[in-house]
Amino acid sequence: YMRFSQRSENLEPSVTLGASEKAKQLKAQGADVLSLTVGEPDFTTPVHIQEAAVEAIRSGKTSFYTPTAGIPQLKQAIVAYLKKYYGLSYDTSETMVTDGAKFALYTLFQAILNQGDEVIIPVPYWVSYGEQVKLAAGTPIFVKGKEENQFKVTAEQLEEARTKNTKAVILNSPSNPTGMIYSKEELEKIGAWAVEHDILIVSDDIYGRLVYDDNVFTPIATISEKIRRQTLIVNGVSKSYSMTGWRIGFVAGDKDLIKAMSDIASQSTSNPAAASQYAAAEALNGPQDSVEEMRKAFEERMKRIYPLLLEIPGFKLQRPQGAFYFFPNVKETMEICGYNDVTEFTEALLNEAHVATVTGQGFGSNENIRISYATDMKTLEEMVKRIKEFVEKKR
Ligand code: PLP
Repeated sequence: YMRFSQRSENLEPSVTLGASEKAKQLKAQGADVLSLTVGEPDFTTPVHIQEAAVEAIRSGKTSFYTPTAGIPQLKQAIVAYLKKYYGLSYDTSETMVTDGAKFALYTLFQAILNQGDEVIIPVPYWVSYGEQVKLAAGTPIFVKGKEENQFKVTAEQLEEARTKNTKAVILNSPSNPTGMIYSKEELEKIGAWAVEHDILIVSDDIYGRLVYDDNVFTPIATISEKIRRQTLIVNGVSKSYSMTGWRIGFVAGDKDLIKAMSDIASQSTSNPAAASQYAAAEALNGPQDSVEEMRKAFEERMKRIYPLLLEIPGFKLQRPQGAFYFFPNVKETMEICGYNDVTEFTEALLNEAHVATVTGQGFGSNENIRISYATDMKTLEEMVKRIKEFVEKKR
């Protein structure tokens, strides 16, 4: 049966998952591949979180469907979390548990977009935003954050992109792939613009706990009550608690919007996995030491590897402020090595140097590659060495 929908035929599969698959295949053939592709912390999920899931399983809490929007215990933990880390008060009816932040975004676009509605997406962007908007019959409108402005977009640029069909704008700070953080002043302007034109702010805060040096993460929802009411917070446990495989995300925002999203989830997934929800409740409520330990480890790697990357001929990059990615501009490196396509360049790095990175193409850039530092120091050091050797050999 080969009669597929246009929707599915127009879809770009995730380049990050694709790159990681390719690396795995090469590895399976016996190659010593360094994999710096996916954004998944290399730590095991903290033991007290594991135990909460085991306890839920053993005590028979997993033989039932849970409420679609999540178990009350986890929703209360989300409310407490938002109070503690954002200083904001939400009612449990203004929150929802989702199958990862990824599915939160998916249900959101299904809930708000009609054919032709536009969502403004700053470039570089996380790979899934545009594709999810398209799956909901919406139109992604890409606005390029200038590299000189740390890849961030300004309220003026957003205003230029606005049309009568603009429904939402996505902000992701700290950013995947750039690692940059929007300042309070920048967010004030963007927030005021969104309120003035009644545009929903989708604030993807998934890397909010992973911030380095003296940088500060300001969630846009905390800037004013008006802006908070214009914002849907998207967050989750994947990155800060090393829980990518558990698939738990959450949102907070307008009650009616949450209801619409929850209705869509009720007809698609029913509920996020029960055991994962109990584990996530423990993650949010329990001791937070491991979050800080992991953050410190990422920071140490960033500090050590950032200056080394600058030594690679042609590599230009800004010091990451948060998340766990380097996003070097490799235009000059490509020139030195004789490539003019960044995807070809990353493929050569993989096949010849056995270093798996992700082409900037999937994030909307022809000049950058993404290197995840959610991996051990030895691998990262070896990665720098191999890329250097690769460039030396080609020049
Ligand atoms: N948002 C951003 C910016 C991400 O990088 C990711 C994961 O890579 C997600 C959302 C989705 O996270 P999850 O579905 O694991 O909660």
